[in-house]
Amino acid sequence: MHQVSDHYQVTIVKYGTRATAKSDVYLNYQLYHEDDAPIDMDYFFWIVRNEERTIVVDTGFSKHGGEIRGRTLLAEVPELFEHFGVHPSDAPDVVLTHAHYDHAGNLNYFPLSRVFMAEEEFSFWSGRHAHRAMFHHSVEDEELAYIDQVSREGRLTLIRKEFQIAPGVQILVVGGHTPGQCVVKVDTSEGVVLLASDAIHYYEEYERDMLFMSVADLVAMYEGFDQIREMESAGSIAHLVSGHDPDTLRRFTPAIGKFADLAATIGVFSAASGTGP
Ligand SMILES: [Zn+2]
Repeated sequence: MHQVSDHYQVTIVKYGTRATAKSDVYLNYQLYHEDDAPIDMDYFFWIVRNEERTIVVDTGFSKHGGEIRGRTLLAEVPELFEHFGVHPSDAPDVVLTHAHYDHAGNLNYFPLSRVFMAEEEFSFWSGRHAHRAMFHHSVEDEELAYIDQVSREGRLTLIRKEFQIAPGVQILVVGGHTPGQCVVKVDTSEGVVLLASDAIHYYEEYERDMLFMSVADLVAMYEGFDQIREMESAGSIAHLVSGHDPDTLRRFTPAIGKFADLAATIGVFSAASGTGP
């Protein structure tokens, strides 16, 4: 039996977007013998919160990281964090699901926070393959250097396989998309939420077993799908939150207020009061 404090509200925040095509997001799209079609890619970060603690999952792309890749920034990421009640001075824990520019930009917005990421991810980006074109185009050297700085400051926790960051919040290392890609399981009043991040960019990718175009390990990516399917069929997850699917927000409870069209929530903030912040 969980205590009230073990349940969290998950807020999904969309901060960026771009228009692209299926042939540009799926690896070897011609394998599926389908006509090409336009598809949007949305960019999110996630906030996990209850009365006792706040955990930030990923920090979005930086202005620079988005600009040089032609991405549309829908709202300033720090302003969004502030709006949704996340203050750097409170030093919320930060989980980096992986080190790509669209997940680890703005990490320096949290100079006091503890940061959690997979050991494989950290060592890969300081290793001998990090500079290779297939990998390097998805990262910013400045942002990798900042992760090193976090490590030198003693704020970085490297995790292997599974790690419970707090009661009701578990990080699983699945790999595939990047060597240390993580997913995050969160207990909410609406059941367990899996923040799949880039283990599942699009719901179709997962449902139809189609791989995303950027992948470090094909087998691990398929195995990540299988692992998530097993969790779903065992009933250990109730809600799946994709990393980039434009349909994601529509699947959950719309936010209210200034950034209503950029956010959705799962679960109540406090089971005691039953209302949001
Ligand atoms: Zn991504």
